Amino acid sequence: MEKSANISVDWIKGLIRNFITTSPYNTMRNETEEPAWDDALVGFASGADPIWQQYKEYVGAFHWTPWEVFNQHRPEESAGSEELTVVSWVLPQREVVRKANRRTKKYPSEEWARIRVYGEEFNVALRRHVAKSLEKVGHAAIAPMLVSNWTIVSSERFSYASSWSERHTAHAAGLGTFGLCDGLITAKGKAMRVGSVVAKISIEPTPRPYADHRAYCLFFANGTCGKCIDRCPVRAITETGHDKMKCRQHLARSREYVKKTYKFEGYGCGLCQVGVPCEAGIPVKAAREALERGELPPTPPPLA
Ligand code: SF4
Ligand code: SF4
Repeated sequence: MEKSANISVDWIKGLIRNFITTSPYNTMRNETEEPAWDDALVGFASGADPIWQQYKEYVGAFHWTPWEVFNQHRPEESAGSEELTVVSWVLPQREVVRKANRRTKKYPSEEWARIRVYGEEFNVALRRHVAKSLEKVGHAAIAPMLVSNWTIVSSERFSYASSWSERHTAHAAGLGTFGLCDGLITAKGKAMRVGSVVAKISIEPTPRPYADHRAYCLFFANGTCGKCIDRCPVRAITETGHDKMKCRQHLARSREYVKKTYKFEGYGCGLCQVGVPCEAGIPVKAAREALERGELPPTPPPLA
C-alpha cells in the first residue's frame, strides 16, 4: 500500500465516471456492444451516522454497520466508525433500456435482462475497482456485497433480507427514498442499480434532502399513484407493500423465458420500475423542487 493520499469527493466521482467511460466491462454484450451504463449519482455517508443503528432495528440485527463489516475483513486497520466513509453510487438505466421494458407485460425485455446480468457484472467490477483504487493510494477499503460472509437471511418483517443492503446504503448516502414497491426513488428515478464501498477515508457526508424515508413516493406523499401495483404481472405489489416472495418466484420463472426467447442465461423483471411516474425522476413535485433548490429538511425522524 502506498502512502495515504487525500481523497476528495471529486476524486471518487471521477474514478467512477472514468470507469464507466473506459471499462471493457461496461457492455450489454449485444451485437453492437452497447454500453450498459452512461451515468452515475454518487453519495457519501459517515460510518458513525446513527442511521446504521436504526437499520439494525428496522431491517434486522443481522444488517451490518460499516464498522462491523470493515473490521471483520480488515481487522489490522482497527478503524473507529468515525474514521470510515461509505461511498454509494446509483447507475441509472439508460432511456433505451427503460423504453424497451416499458413495452413488456409479463417478462423483461432483452435489454433489461442483459443489464440485470451484464450490467450487474460491471457493477461488481466497479465495486472492485473503487476498493482497489483506494487501496492503491493508501486507504483500506472493502465492498460489503463482495465479502465472503455476505448472506441473505430470513426476516420476519421482510420475508428475507441481507447482511448489507445497497438500497439502504444509498438512502443513508442521501441518494433516494423508498417507494411502495420497495425500490429506491432517486433523482434519476427508480430504474437503476446500486453499489457501495466502505473505506477508511474522511469525506463530508452527503446531506439527506428528505425528512421521511418515503418522501419521494406519490403514494406515501399524498395518497395518489399506485401505478406500480398495476405494472406488476404477478400482483406482488399492493397498497400494503411488496410481497418479496411472489416477486422472487416470478424472477425465477423469468430464467426459462429469457433463455428460450433471447438465447442467453439471464433473468429479470423490473416492470414496476418503468412506465410509472418515478421511472426516471422524483415524481413528488415539492420534494423535487426542494432538491433542485438545494433545500434540506429539519433533522429526519427515525425510520418507522
Ligand atoms: S409508481 Fe407511484 S406508488 Fe409506485 S413507487 Fe412510484 S410513485 Fe410510488
Ligand atoms: S420486479 Fe416484477 S415481480 Fe417484482 S414487484 Fe416488480 S413488477 Fe412485480
